[in-house]
Amino acid sequence: MKFLPAVLALGIVSGAVAQKPADTEVWEPKPAVITNTTATTSVPPSDAIVLFDGKNLDQWESVNEPGKAAGWTVAKNVFTVKKGTGNIQTKKAFTDYQLHIEWQVPANIHGEGQGRGNSGLFLASTGKGDDGYELQIMDGWENATYVNGQAASVYKQTAPLVNASKKPGEWQSYDVTWTAPVFNTDGTLKSPAYVTVLHNGVMVQNHTELKGKTVYIGKPEYNQHGASPIKLQDHGDPSEPLSFRNIWIREMK
Ligand code: MG
Repeated sequence: MKFLPAVLALGIVSGAVAQKPADTEVWEPKPAVITNTTATTSVPPSDAIVLFDGKNLDQWESVNEPGKAAGWTVAKNVFTVKKGTGNIQTKKAFTDYQLHIEWQVPANIHGEGQGRGNSGLFLASTGKGDDGYELQIMDGWENATYVNGQAASVYKQTAPLVNASKKPGEWQSYDVTWTAPVFNTDGTLKSPAYVTVLHNGVMVQNHTELKGKTVYIGKPEYNQHGASPIKLQDHGDPSEPLSFRNIWIREMK
């Protein structure tokens, strides 16, 4: 009882109370679970850049070793996270775009919460060592976690409008519209980033304004950046790795 006020006083004096990951978790309200969703699939439009056509990862490179080939596994027209090799990123940089991606949590997935089939789509990054702005890719089927960290959330920022997740073993889709942030020449923010996402054909992020780059602890902030690669996450949890297929992007001016 005597100790607590001293700790609080110390926090005020130092001006910095220690922050924990749980401080930015939101658990309620839970997005409604909906069914009868249909993963979209499509032939890439003629003006799209195909980022994966089932054959190779030539459009991608290692994040840990830029310029080196992406070390994930390509087989049977899909590619699969190779745990421990790190994130991969597009060789090309993008600004505003429309992107289609299909992903699958394996049917034999184990684990729970954030440790169950976790990957992620980093919509852009600042190029200063951070991963960027994460649209969560994860098992969202009867897998309890904080809602601003579940599948189709803007991680640690905005929960999806509904939970449109399919069961492990079924293919799922994101159709993403990304409006990159714009910065003034002095590095201050001129206009924030926005993202619109259809998950299995259903609106889950509707022109959502981002508060900054994704952070695990603390408040998100913006750092000035220009055109940026898009990344996929090797999360590092011990559960079975996710697979991807049919990825294409259309740049918007
Ligand atoms: Mg993730």
